[in-house]
Amino acid sequence: MTTDGLLLRSTPFGEADAVVQLFTREHGRVSALARGARSSKRRFAGALGLLVLSDFELKHRPRADLWSLESALIRRDWTALAGDVVAVAHLSYALEVVRELSPIGIAEPRLLDLLVELHEVMAERGPSPPVLRALELAVLETLGHAPVLDACAACGGELGAGVLFDPGRGGALCAGCAAQSRGIGVRGFAEGARQLLRAARSVERLVDAIAATAAFDDSDRAAARDAMVGMIVAQVGRPLRSVEFIAKLGHRRG
Ligand SMILES: [Zn+2]
Repeated sequence: MTTDGLLLRSTPFGEADAVVQLFTREHGRVSALARGARSSKRRFAGALGLLVLSDFELKHRPRADLWSLESALIRRDWTALAGDVVAVAHLSYALEVVRELSPIGIAEPRLLDLLVELHEVMAERGPSPPVLRALELAVLETLGHAPVLDACAACGGELGAGVLFDPGRGGALCAGCAAQSRGIGVRGFAEGARQLLRAARSVERLVDAIAATAAFDDSDRAAARDAMVGMIVAQVGRPLRSVEFIAKLGHRRG
């Protein structure tokens, strides 16, 4: 079986091999044994690296948890981005989100398309936080975890004033329902942040999020980012490493 996909993670195995986690079009997230991945640089060439889309030839091994990776060939190459630390950080974050949220062995081709599109946008326009917001929203929606932004996530009523964002309860809350929110990640949700996320959610292509959110200020951008990261952390159940890395890169990078 040959399928295109991206490398999510590679772990050394024995002297010569690696166990790789791949996000494939046909089978979603799978783990495979890549024999010779470490002993021979030519075995998989650059096809088992970051910043490439590859065609993976996978063989199912009876009574084994791991697939066997027979061969891998680069199909698209974005390795020119390797020198852009912010771009690499954004892509690492997107891969981590998909790795943590996608089910094992279930095809989610929309998620692969989104990751490929993110690489494309990054190569053309450079890293952009609004593009990440659009990606987060699309990934959450694909997996059935879209945040509620248009009404109260708890009672379904109008939001009015005093709105909070509670990732554990699924999104925006009216002041009445917000009074019962005590969980981790609960925060104020300014109208601008809510409108920014609604704009980022409605774009057809990720790149359109740049223009769709151009009018929002830094505090709305920061609040929208914190709400989305909170939503993802609530689904994963623990902090994401790549978020801390992006934070270390400084102001306006995430
Ligand atoms: Zn309510």
